[in-house]
Amino acid sequence: MRIILMGPPGAGKGTQAEQLAARYGIPHISTGDMLRQAVKDATPMGRQAKTYMDSGALVPDDVTIGAVAERLARADCGKGFLLDGFPRTIAQAEALAGILRDLGVALNGVVDIELGSEALIERLTGRRVCRRCAATYHIANRPPVRAGLCDKCGGELYQRGDDSIATARNRLDVYQKQTQPLIAYYSQAGLLRQIPGAADPESVFQAICAVFE
Ligand code: ADP
Ligand code: ADP
Ligand code: ZN
Repeated sequence: MRIILMGPPGAGKGTQAEQLAARYGIPHISTGDMLRQAVKDATPMGRQAKTYMDSGALVPDDVTIGAVAERLARADCGKGFLLDGFPRTIAQAEALAGILRDLGVALNGVVDIELGSEALIERLTGRRVCRRCAATYHIANRPPVRAGLCDKCGGELYQRGDDSIATARNRLDVYQKQTQPLIAYYSQAGLLRQIPGAADPESVFQAICAVFE
């Protein structure tokens, strides 16, 4: 199964991706997670990406395209993959088409999770993430059992710098200008499946699974 998970920041891509990857036995490839790890490790890619990420802008296309091309060539993608947060521009989508053509594989579908901007801001500003394992929580919707600590690994929860209200708003603008055009792009390709994202995580998960079953 080869799936792209799209949707504005805070729509629930990461939350759904975790479950979908387990269901279909495919790797969850999040460019956001890859970039945050690179920033933490201070790799050349991380140093290049940091200022863009801090302001809520997209990092340059060649950075993410190179990272994804490398990742998709790894053996564990033979069974398929779930892309979360990539592509985010038409240039990235065109590069991805070339990568998949070279690998001799095709996409099964592009799932777009939809949610209005007020709910997105509430989700982003309430999000908390585990420093150790990157598991995601929400102060109101999905609180951890012990305040400030990850249920899965006991790691410390933190608020991403780009989840501040000002940067979250900027990310929604960036999404509208640079990523929204992909909806028409994948719709024309006959691959797009739009899923309302306002329901609880389990209901959204069932709606996404129904697309592929
Ligand atoms: P969210 O899940 O809230 O949408 P991500 O974790 O996917 O956020 O992305 C965080 C940041 O990482 C983005 O604001 C952007 O700076 C950078 N980023 C992630 N994926 C891409 C991409 N495909 N192209 C450009 N920048 C990206
Ligand atoms: P994205 O990867 O699209 O930016 P996340 O999966 O990180 O989104 O979700 C953003 C925030 O909203 C997180 O705090 C998460 O716990 C919460 N969340 C995710 N899905 C739902 C849902 N269906 N209902 C309520 N809250 C949700
Ligand atoms: Zn954890």
